[in-house]
Amino acid sequence: MSKFFSSKYRTLVPYTPGEQPRDMQYIKLNTNESPFPPSERAIEAASEAAKGLQLYSDPTLKALREAMADTLGITPDEVIMTNGSDEVLNFAFMAYCDDEHPAVFADITYGFYPVFAEINCVPTKIIPLREDFSLSVDDYIGTKGTVFIANPNAPTGLCLPTSEIERLLQSDPHRMVVIDEAYVDFGGQSCVPLTKKYNNLLVTGTFSKSRSMAGARLGFGVANAEIIQDLDTIRYSTNPYNVNSMTMAAGIGCLADDAYTKENCQKIINARAFTTKELQKLGFVTTDSRTNFVFAKHPLLDGEQFYLALKARGILVRHFSAPRIKDYNRITVGTMEQMQTFVKVTKEILEK
Ligand code: PMP
Repeated sequence: MSKFFSSKYRTLVPYTPGEQPRDMQYIKLNTNESPFPPSERAIEAASEAAKGLQLYSDPTLKALREAMADTLGITPDEVIMTNGSDEVLNFAFMAYCDDEHPAVFADITYGFYPVFAEINCVPTKIIPLREDFSLSVDDYIGTKGTVFIANPNAPTGLCLPTSEIERLLQSDPHRMVVIDEAYVDFGGQSCVPLTKKYNNLLVTGTFSKSRSMAGARLGFGVANAEIIQDLDTIRYSTNPYNVNSMTMAAGIGCLADDAYTKENCQKIINARAFTTKELQKLGFVTTDSRTNFVFAKHPLLDGEQFYLALKARGILVRHFSAPRIKDYNRITVGTMEQMQTFVKVTKEILEK
């Protein structure tokens, strides 16, 4: 750290992204990317857009907003497009949290929330999940502040029904609730339709998982037009060209090929069912994941040792050292073939 670094950030602990190793070819099951390439239509549109890279991208993102709105059954002024959903989440911390409105979230959830809180100098209220990692909405009702819930949650994979979120929204119409739906396309229930009914709800989503575009960095937020205006004020005050023109074109191409996205989601759901069943046969305990990952532990296998043993055999998964989940690993669901290899290697590790 240099002597010039602002005192505001001297104690900041940055978010640790999953490993993106370049040293060898791993079966990469550690950062919840899609194993499938982007839609051909996304690739073609991005290549075409590359020819115009001498110009700034469209700061209004008009065409992409229209395509997104069409897909979600909302109007273009009800959606903001961002550089990954991390950006819209950060905007929400900036826009809706302060000393009077702490950020309220679970102890086991997306690891970026505490970092967003810290970089924005926002106080936090951490609410532990139940013993079985389920989230009790009653624990949130009556608290003060802006609630952030990943639904389905990461890394537990568990999903709350929208009726429970609705109960939270109704309990206090004066507080903001942010629902992070990064994994919703793999079997969760989306709260997007509730944005028509509640003006204290922001739903965020991403193109990084079900839409195979993690490297393009594209996310979105859905809420009533006033909320979107707040977030756009922040967007224009930080980076008006936050979504580059190739990504914008790829996003439109991807949305035009929704059947491809749905087909891939179904393949992942099938591979998830296979992996879960096989792991359970081997004695693993798994959660009821509605995401593109499996969260699993084995009574006879140390979580970190399992992670290291897989890595030594060319398979990368994600291990977290937080005490409540240190026995678990989060295993991204890849292709059926990758998951068959993962199960085979896991058997070998258990036999040793
Ligand atoms: N929310 C959750 C729960 C996530 O796991 C992730 C992926 N790391 C994100 C949001 C952000 O993803 P992206 O910025 O790629 O849209």
